[in-house]
Amino acid sequence: MNSHIVKEAHVAAHNYEPLPVVLVKGEGIYVWDDQGRRYTDLMSAYSAVSLGHSHPRLVKAISEQAQKLAVCSRAFFTDQLGPFLERACQLTEQDRALPMNTGAEAVETALKAARKWGYKVKNIPDGKAEIITCNGNFHGRTIAIIGFSSEAQYKDGFGPFPEGFVNIDYGDSKALEKAITPNTAAFLVEPIQGEAGIVLPPKGYLAECARLCKANNVLLICDEVQTGLGRTGKLLACQYDNVHPDALILGKALGGGMLAVSLFLARQEVMNVFHPGDHGSTFGGNPLAAAVGLEALNVLVEENLIEHSAQMGDYFIEQLKKLNSPLISDIRGRGLFIALEIEPSLANARQVCEHMMHHSLLSKETHDTVVRLAPPLTITKQQIHETVAGIKKALDDLAKQLEKSA
Ligand SMILES: *Cc1c(COP(=O)(O)O)cnc(C)c1O
Repeated sequence: MNSHIVKEAHVAAHNYEPLPVVLVKGEGIYVWDDQGRRYTDLMSAYSAVSLGHSHPRLVKAISEQAQKLAVCSRAFFTDQLGPFLERACQLTEQDRALPMNTGAEAVETALKAARKWGYKVKNIPDGKAEIITCNGNFHGRTIAIIGFSSEAQYKDGFGPFPEGFVNIDYGDSKALEKAITPNTAAFLVEPIQGEAGIVLPPKGYLAECARLCKANNVLLICDEVQTGLGRTGKLLACQYDNVHPDALILGKALGGGMLAVSLFLARQEVMNVFHPGDHGSTFGGNPLAAAVGLEALNVLVEENLIEHSAQMGDYFIEQLKKLNSPLISDIRGRGLFIALEIEPSLANARQVCEHMMHHSLLSKETHDTVVRLAPPLTITKQQIHETVAGIKKALDDLAKQLEKSA
């Protein structure tokens, strides 16, 4: 047994179940293990590494800023935060941004903003604000957020949870219409549900939700922590529905694969509910994070990675469809956010991931049946070709193994 694995398993909390590979280096779409073996990264750290590992421009930005000024708290202005937030607001067409670190913190920020907007602007009676969320959602792991998760495991043993959340079925705009009351402050939704297994809602769903929210004076908050920043082939996945949400949450890829950088962005009327002392974060918006965040946005745009994601995603899905394996029951996705659904009567996604690992492809199962294919957006046609060939070998190996044990 590898000594790194033994040590980590001995001292780390067992809140993950990693594949047995020890990574020591990354470059572009590739990572290397401690034996010098190279793998294609099809996870990109849940899209946090959308620009690829150790992108030279990000390495430069982080090391230059680290030598100047890394952290000073928002007790003071810096020369880095303004340019970062300005670019983020410009690109997403939002008025203001509130910097945090992780996605969950930015979601918490959104929940606080929505409630306060509900009381101060919409005049919801004190303590009565409701936020509507969806079954199958994933918005992070804090107590408030898991309180409205529909996943039993995420909640088990962690209650009691805050009140004021109403869950409805995802993809069902009629359910939203029914759930809205005069006390509804916001509807929080992922344009594509990532952790649920890359679940695409029916066409026009988000547009209809936006219409309902507007008609009822309810904030539409899109959580694009995972779908945002080119992952689905547009800057924001909500652009597929021509939706401009009242507020937006970004994270993961915003840190350029270097740091935890997240943002809550909103229009003026929403963001103005925050006054000095209402909310904050020691590390949120630090100069190091701001420099990295700005460079991540610039690389995304200047290297045309958004269009590239759309084109490569189409190519990837087209190639996967040629596999014609009985083990695959569905292939779906948008841009480079792709799910390979494994036929549950034959195998599970973990087995497929283990076989893929033997063919130098790293991914991780999402629930029992989904293999996620979300490589860095920089992946080329040739690399996709090689990846699909590797997936084919992995599926063939697994099919043979299943035959033997049958
Ligand atoms: C990952 C994720 C989060 C939480 O981000 P963390 O940085 O892990 O806290 C929130 N929302 C969505 C949609 C995510 O995929």
